[in-house]
Amino acid sequence: MTKCLYLFSPYLPIPLKMRTDRPLLNETSTIHRFLIWSEQNKSRPAYIRYSLPIALVVVTTFIKIEFLSFITTSSPYLLYFGVVCLCTIVAGISPAILAIILSSLAANYYFIEPKNEFTLSSLAFYRTAIFIGECVFIILLSSAVMAAYRRVNQVQALFRAMIEKGSEGIVLTNREGKRVYVSPSIERIIGYTAKEFIAMKPWILADPDELPAIKARMKDLMGHPGKNISFIHRVRHKDGRWIWLENSITNLLEDESVCAIVANFYNVTERIILEQQKDDFIGIASHELKTPITSLKASIQLLDRMKNDPSPDTLPKLVERSKRNVEKLTELVDELLNASHVGQGHLYLDKTDFVMADLLTECCAQIHATDKHRLIIQGDCDLHVCADRGRIDQVVVNFVNNAIKYAPRSKDIYLIVERIDNGTKISVKDSGPGIAPEKLPYIFDRYYRAETNSYNNSGLGLGLYISSEIIKKHGGHIGVDSKLGEGSTFWFTLPG
Ligand code: ADP
Repeated sequence: MTKCLYLFSPYLPIPLKMRTDRPLLNETSTIHRFLIWSEQNKSRPAYIRYSLPIALVVVTTFIKIEFLSFITTSSPYLLYFGVVCLCTIVAGISPAILAIILSSLAANYYFIEPKNEFTLSSLAFYRTAIFIGECVFIILLSSAVMAAYRRVNQVQALFRAMIEKGSEGIVLTNREGKRVYVSPSIERIIGYTAKEFIAMKPWILADPDELPAIKARMKDLMGHPGKNISFIHRVRHKDGRWIWLENSITNLLEDESVCAIVANFYNVTERIILEQQKDDFIGIASHELKTPITSLKASIQLLDRMKNDPSPDTLPKLVERSKRNVEKLTELVDELLNASHVGQGHLYLDKTDFVMADLLTECCAQIHATDKHRLIIQGDCDLHVCADRGRIDQVVVNFVNNAIKYAPRSKDIYLIVERIDNGTKISVKDSGPGIAPEKLPYIFDRYYRAETNSYNNSGLGLGLYISSEIIKKHGGHIGVDSKLGEGSTFWFTLPG
């Protein structure tokens, strides 16, 4: 993506030529401050704005009579042009028209022969007409300059907002490799302030393994004015994490108005992690589907071989094995379909009123817990809730199945129902290995599996994601309290 960036000087409607000795977006210049002040004056009360031309004409006339009398006859309108111009910029068009009228009268009375009386000679008339014509031109010109200046100010404010408040970082580097502008938004991206970043060596935060390739591309870019390159690379955040940036760098050194290498970059860490999770997911999903399919295929082959002479011992076992594998496949496909529906927002609830403890008892009956586990229901057994029974059953079964799967040595698994301030809380508590604190924030994310070795326990990393969507749809909250070595308590709340 190629972007064109124009940086306007604060008071001129032309792009600012990059100068390393002058800060960009300079707002401290006298002209800039004067123009800002003039703009503010235009909203002052009328009596203040109209007293300006009166005062200026009086003072100018006094100065001309007292100090410039030697040229006033030849140039009766001298200095009055300045008065009109100043009134246009500072007070606006109407006070400027008043300045023209007052100046014409003063010049006619004091400085056009015969002096100290109003003259209606044709010479006086022509001179006045020319003065008024020139003043109208001054007014139009000054108004145009001010309008252009206002537009530049607006554009500058807009660009500043885009640069400073946007999620994009912008760095401008000059021909000598010195960074001449770093957008403040960089702090949100890499944690360092623009000032800290400018003081650093170029590419110091980049991954050393990726650096040679980046430097080669930059060298090539420097030799090709107008060229743009894009790449994703890793950068060390101030807090020590690695993050991924998508960088789009354009060589605008030959562009008169920019004279810099312009780098625009975004934090794409979430996207990269999601892509990695998706790749992992495809691997896991294929593996998960392949196991029952292979077993089913083997059973069918054996059944095929014995179709003419079925063995009474083997036949029921093969049928039972095939049934189990088909069930497993159905479960996996259901989970995938569920996740896809939930992801597209197609989750519809059919709420009814029921006793929560009854649902927990039914869940325990469905789950094939072996002797290794004991499912214990605790809490307020009379509590009623209004929710989609089937969906809540799905969440509880998922919590309990996970406890059995990921806490194999936790003999007792507790299903607790309790009343809380504005609703009901259901928790499933195990005393298994627990979950590392850095993994907890992602545990309800789609495709996320906290296990480092994903193939140890089967699963698609979708169960908790689906559960969290179901609970959110009910207007409740879902969470986990866990400490490494101390087990986990997965819980959700239902309002009402
Ligand atoms: P799946 O079980 O299919 O991987 P889930 O979304 O149900 O997907 O769970 C996501 C991850 O959360 C699991 O891969 C597992 O690492 C972790 N997890 C879930 N429940 C527990 C638990 N009770 N104890 C420890 N880890 C758990």
